[in-house]
Amino acid sequence: MMATTHGLWGVALGATLAMRAPEYAPVALVAGFVGGVVPDLDIYANHRRTLHAPVYGSCLAALTVGLALAVPSAATLALAAALSAAAVHVLMDVAGGGLSLQPWADQPDRAVYSHFHGRWVPPRGWVRYDGAPEDLALACLAGVGLLAVVSDPFRWGIVALLVASVAYTLVRKRLVAIVTTLLAYTPARLSTLVPRRFDHLRER
Ligand SMILES: [Zn+2]
Repeated sequence: MMATTHGLWGVALGATLAMRAPEYAPVALVAGFVGGVVPDLDIYANHRRTLHAPVYGSCLAALTVGLALAVPSAATLALAAALSAAAVHVLMDVAGGGLSLQPWADQPDRAVYSHFHGRWVPPRGWVRYDGAPEDLALACLAGVGLLAVVSDPFRWGIVALLVASVAYTLVRKRLVAIVTTLLAYTPARLSTLVPRRFDHLRER
């Protein structure tokens, strides 16, 4: 799913946890967002394996949520929001179309790596690909719900994420062509910043 969908659902989880202690809502919202987007930073390592752990991540998240509900503080709520958002991110990846730049064409058989099972978990395909209309619907569901409960400046952050979601959805099917063009104009000294998974596009 889109990074924005992951981020919005992370914020929604933070908002839900903050109902236990509303005075810590700002830190829970920020932590939820960070936890929602950070797993995909493993695009610079082993994507959907290094920072994706469906079983261990979910267990850890459940423990921290229990701790935060029992002993609410800024630290416990932030930890619970971040780790539960990361765990939900991984489960959402399993519900998606799989590890590919074009899941609708490639039919990938890998969603995320389960360190517990020692194998890749296949994608369910309930959301066909990141940036699909159903992905945008999920982003809007979380975003509109959040707009009803958060205040400024978070409201503006939610609106920005929704606008970015719509823009990404509109260009998604042309993304490979766009990235290929961008890579052609990327100076060689910046090429180390480009994730390895785009290498095959550079060589076209
Ligand atoms: Zn992911």
